[in-house]
Amino acid sequence: MTAAVSRFRAYCPECRSTVELGPDAFRLSLGRTSERTYYSFTCPSCEAPVRKRAGERIVEALTGAGVPALRLHVVR
Ligand SMILES: [Zn+2]
Repeated sequence: MTAAVSRFRAYCPECRSTVELGPDAFRLSLGRTSERTYYSFTCPSCEAPVRKRAGERIVEALTGAGVPALRLHVVR
């Protein structure tokens, strides 16, 4: 048995393909609300930068896999 490394499936709207990426391919931006929380990655097949809203489960899965999270604060 090999050690389990988390892989994530992500859809690229540019080339319309589903790609499989390891946790180090992702960036996570945590906003104050889920509407402002995004994950982003560079598509391995067309190299387009993709940014999508991240739901709570995606955030948990990505941070649990070791993706560094950038916490954004809104200053008023
Ligand atoms: Zn693509």
